Amino acid sequence: MEKKLHPSTLCVHAGYSPANGEPRQMPIIQSTTFKYTTSDEMGRLFDLEASGYFYTRLQNPTNDHVAARLAALEGGVAGMLTSSGQAANFFACFNICEAGSHMITTSAIYGGTYNLFGVTFPKMGIEVTFIDQDASDEEIEAAFRPNTKLLFGETLTNPGVRVLDIERLARIAHKHGVPLIVDNTFPTPVNLRPIEFGADIVTHSTTKYLDGHGTTVGGAIIDSGNFDWEAHADKFPGLTTPDESYHGLTYTKKFGKLAYITKATSQLMRDLGSIQSPQNAFYLNLGIQTLAVRMKHICASAQMVAEYLHDHPAVEWIHFPGLKDDSDYALAQKYMPEGTCGVMALALKGDRERAKRFMDHLQLVTIETHVADCHTCILHPASHTHRQLSDQQLREAGVDPGLMRLSIGLEDPRDIIADLEQALRVE
Ligand SMILES: *Cc1c(COP(=O)(O)O)cnc(C)c1O
Repeated sequence: MEKKLHPSTLCVHAGYSPANGEPRQMPIIQSTTFKYTTSDEMGRLFDLEASGYFYTRLQNPTNDHVAARLAALEGGVAGMLTSSGQAANFFACFNICEAGSHMITTSAIYGGTYNLFGVTFPKMGIEVTFIDQDASDEEIEAAFRPNTKLLFGETLTNPGVRVLDIERLARIAHKHGVPLIVDNTFPTPVNLRPIEFGADIVTHSTTKYLDGHGTTVGGAIIDSGNFDWEAHADKFPGLTTPDESYHGLTYTKKFGKLAYITKATSQLMRDLGSIQSPQNAFYLNLGIQTLAVRMKHICASAQMVAEYLHDHPAVEWIHFPGLKDDSDYALAQKYMPEGTCGVMALALKGDRERAKRFMDHLQLVTIETHVADCHTCILHPASHTHRQLSDQQLREAGVDPGLMRLSIGLEDPRDIIADLEQALRVE
C-alpha cells in the first residue's frame, strides 16, 4: 500500500503506524537492551531463528522505524541506519567485499568517500579502480576483473553537482554480474529514486537534507532486494555460503530478498558497531517529516540564485544542473524532473584571493564545512573539505581548485541574492 503513496505522504507516515493509544509521534526507545522471560527465547534471537530486539547495537525499534521510512521512500525492501554517511558507504561495500576483492567507483565523489576507497580500502586488501563517469561503455567495462564485486557512484556528485547516468551504469554493472551502489545524499528520495532506474543499493549521508537542520550526523543503506546474489553465487560467498558465526546459516537461503541488509546488520553491525543512537534517529525522523516541503522550497530558491549568478559578470563559471545551458541539464531532466538539490558549484573571475575576499564579505551566507541544511552556506573545497587531495587528485575528483560550493537553505531567496550581490561588489 505504501508504494502507491507520494513521497511527501511517505515522509510523515511510512514505517510507523501506531495502534490505539500509542504515541502519534515516533517514540525514542532509549534503551540498550530488551527483556525476555525464558533463556530459550533470547537464544533463538541470537541464532537469527526468531526476530526481535535484544541489544541496540544490532537493532532498535526507533532506528528500525526510521530505516523502514527511508526504505519506503526509496522503494527498497529493507534499510538500516548507521552512525554516519561514511559508515553507510563503508558497510554498503564491505558487506560484499573483502581482502582480495576489487571494486570500481566513479572518481567524482565526496572527499571522505574518495579517501575511504583510495586509501583505507587498499590497506584492507580491497583494490579500487576509479573511473570517469563520462567515459564510454567500453572504457568502463575495461575496468572489470574476475574479482570485481561492485560499481559505485554518487547520483549527484559532491561538490561538483554532476548527474550520474544511473541506467547506463546499472546496465554495465549487471552485464558484469555485480550490483550498482549509489550514494543518493544530494537529491534525496523526494527528487530521485535510483532503484526505479536500476540501482541495486542506495546509501545516504542523512547528515545532509534528510536531517536538514544541521543537528545530527548519520547514514543509511537501503537495499532494493532486486540483485540476484544466487545467480552470481561464486562472487558473493559471504551471502551465498554458510556463515560459521551463525551456526552455518546461509543469508540468501534463509532471508531471500532481505539477505543483504540482514547480513550487514547481524554481521557487520555486530562486529564493527557503527549504530546510530535512537535519539539521533528521532531527530533524523523530524527532518524527514518535512523533507518534501523543504526540498521544494530549496530547489526553487536554488534555481533563482543560480540564474542570478549565471548572468553576473563577476562569475567565471557556474555549474547547476537546473540551468538550461548546463552540460548535465538533459540528464537532470530525465532523472530529477522536479528539481535536483540546493547545491551549486561556481568560480569567480580573478585569483583565489578574490574568492576569499568574496566569502569573507558574506554576511547572511556563512562559511561552513556543511552542505544541504536549512542555512545557506559556502565552502571552498580546495582549502577545506578536500585539502588532503593533491591538485591532480582534486581534478580527478572533478573539483577545480577555484571551485566554491554554495548550498542554498530555507531563507528567502531575495535575501540570499542581496547578500551575494553586496559581496560580489568587493573587487
Ligand atoms: C557528507 C557526505 C558523505 C559523508 O557523510 P557523513 O555523514 O559526513 O559521514 C558521504 N557522501 C556524500 C555525498 C556526502 O555529501
